[in-house]
Amino acid sequence: MKRTIDCTHMLKVDIRLKNSPLQGSTQTYVQSFATGETIDGAVSILSQDDLIFENLHISFIGEQSTSIPSAKPNKATHEFLHLIQPLPESALPSPKVFRGRTKYEIPFSFLVPDYLPTPACPHSSHPLVKAAHLHPPPSIGDATIAGFGGRLRDDLAPETACKVVYTIIFKLERPSITTRAQETIMDKRLKVRIKPHVGEIPLPDLDLGAIADEYRLVSRGDIGPHNKGAGKGKLAVTLEQPECFWHPLGDTVRLISKAVRLFFVYTPSSASASASAGSQGNIITLPELKSLRAQITATTLYTTKFDGPHPPQRQRDFFGRPINFRDADIPLEFPSLPQLRWERMDAQAADPNQSPNPEAGPGPGPPGSGSGETEISYIATLLVPVTLTKDKSFVPTFHSCLISRIYSLSFQLEVKGASSSFRLKAPMQIAAERDPSALPSYNASLGVIDTEP
Ligand SMILES: [Zn+2]
Repeated sequence: MKRTIDCTHMLKVDIRLKNSPLQGSTQTYVQSFATGETIDGAVSILSQDDLIFENLHISFIGEQSTSIPSAKPNKATHEFLHLIQPLPESALPSPKVFRGRTKYEIPFSFLVPDYLPTPACPHSSHPLVKAAHLHPPPSIGDATIAGFGGRLRDDLAPETACKVVYTIIFKLERPSITTRAQETIMDKRLKVRIKPHVGEIPLPDLDLGAIADEYRLVSRGDIGPHNKGAGKGKLAVTLEQPECFWHPLGDTVRLISKAVRLFFVYTPSSASASASAGSQGNIITLPELKSLRAQITATTLYTTKFDGPHPPQRQRDFFGRPINFRDADIPLEFPSLPQLRWERMDAQAADPNQSPNPEAGPGPGPPGSGSGETEISYIATLLVPVTLTKDKSFVPTFHSCLISRIYSLSFQLEVKGASSSFRLKAPMQIAAERDPSALPSYNASLGVIDTEP
């Protein structure tokens, strides 16, 4: 087993990144990189006295770790990226001695890959799952790196239970005087924040299992079931599946916002329709909103097992508390309650080809077409702005071997005269836009998705 000897008292080592605004001083905040970008920097070494070494390593590591509280320790760690800086002999002092009070600079350069090497994911029996897992996951769950531009922002991950961390590691080794085994005499680390950007190749759509059963794009209900006379009918509310929310290039301070549509169709019952027809359509009462609530939910799912379902399914304890997930709700705020602007639709007039019975005249007709009367319905569309607030860090949607982050958008509407509320929920995707002029960075054996069963 390797031994570590602490040499920090006589050796000063700094890992510095190029273009750091704090050039020349110690890094005090975490720098952010997109996939396809290069992390350039140098390690500076200053020893008080002459220091003999044998091996010097500079590497870039991506690692995820999860832990699930239980009686037995239940933890997992997975190193999905391990890049090694090639160091020719000429880059190092010869002989391998850092002379006392002499400063050495050893440069490094790591290209953050768009795809991980195929062996990084052991899920080869599920090609789609593997394809998703071979996209590098974003940094998540580490409070020290959640910030951007020096500020700390909540990334909505569960505290301490799961994280994705990227680190530049510098190690210096030499053989032990007694055992001749390699001993680490210096281990210095610098965390960087990684945000995967996707271009034309979108993330694969995974089967979300039971989570997908929660989605509901249509909600129906009766209006005025206890009213007498007018104002009775059926209301259907449909939520349009929102398009992907894109983080703009360069991660600027621009707000990420999108309008999502809700469609309303109201069909008055025939009693209220005839009542309205009998009095020139003036007494019909169209549904009105009493309240509108909406929220984005950021769900982080994690597991300590490689052989479980992907993405991991929610588990709860005896009391219904989350075991392996966190649902973080971010309510959306609306300045005022929107008004529904109804438009009358005449089913037969609107689309005569839809009429199932062209010869239907006055007299008994098939069920659904009434007694030859035109079915009246009313439609309305509501555009609801959905904005990703700036105080939270909405990391892109991702699936990795141990951790997944998914988003959903849900609405709860109360309508005057309705006996219950209308609830809708749609999946929502967040991605970071990739510079279309930059070529994808393939690293070693990459990009190849192992489709072998
Ligand atoms: Zn995997």
